Amino acid sequence: MVSEQRSATSIHAIGGSVGRMPLDVCQLPLVGGHPALDLVNTLERGAPLDGKPPYDFLSDTSALLRWTARVGLIGDAEADRAGQAWRDDPAAAHAGLAAVRDIREGLHLVVLAAIQPADGGAAGDPGGPAEGDPIAAGAALVGLHERWSGAAARATLVLDRGDPPQVRLTYGTVPAMLIPDRIAEAALDVLRTADLPRVRRCPVAEGGCGWLFLDQSRNGSRRWCRMADCGTTAKARRLTERRRAARVGAP
Ligand SMILES: [Zn+2]
Repeated sequence: MVSEQRSATSIHAIGGSVGRMPLDVCQLPLVGGHPALDLVNTLERGAPLDGKPPYDFLSDTSALLRWTARVGLIGDAEADRAGQAWRDDPAAAHAGLAAVRDIREGLHLVVLAAIQPADGGAAGDPGGPAEGDPIAAGAALVGLHERWSGAAARATLVLDRGDPPQVRLTYGTVPAMLIPDRIAEAALDVLRTADLPRVRRCPVAEGGCGWLFLDQSRNGSRRWCRMADCGTTAKARRLTERRRAARVGAP
């Protein structure tokens, strides 16, 4: 019970970029609107905290397995197959986790560079030296392409003789590589098919958490990943600052 309360507290704390308490990846809010954007949000983003590394919700291979199933990139039977392959070959499991983290950071760089003009200058936000940097994004694209080519080489074409019949491209035929391959597929999908001008970053400079999300509001006015967390935290902070300024300015 105590741990549940602490976890709930830390979800809100992370909204204000100050949370340091470990959270289970299955409690992480899914705000991205696309699994690949939610992948980017599995690392604490935003302002650096006392030089400490950001908290990584994909803390181990088990967390990665549970997260991938939760966001629907693999089904239950596939999770069983991937889990068994990783138990049989721990080195492959660790390589899979490293590959996913690599895809995640590459995707973050590319998306930030892609949305920078609409974002009002993501590079000006605290949180990382290379954010919004087109050179870093170009290198990240090369890395993402390598990950995706490997996944595509392991993919198969399957004839589905349903009504109507169709040929499907299925990624993740090698159990030990199932999870990184599906994630490489999702990363390519968001870059190629998502409405990038609608991808936003929860504004770090205004107290937001730096997570990415697809703005699916009708008028494209969504600013915060979660109004109930980051938006409210930032509003409360601005109100406190205004009151403090008013007190200082009072005769
Ligand atoms: Zn946020």
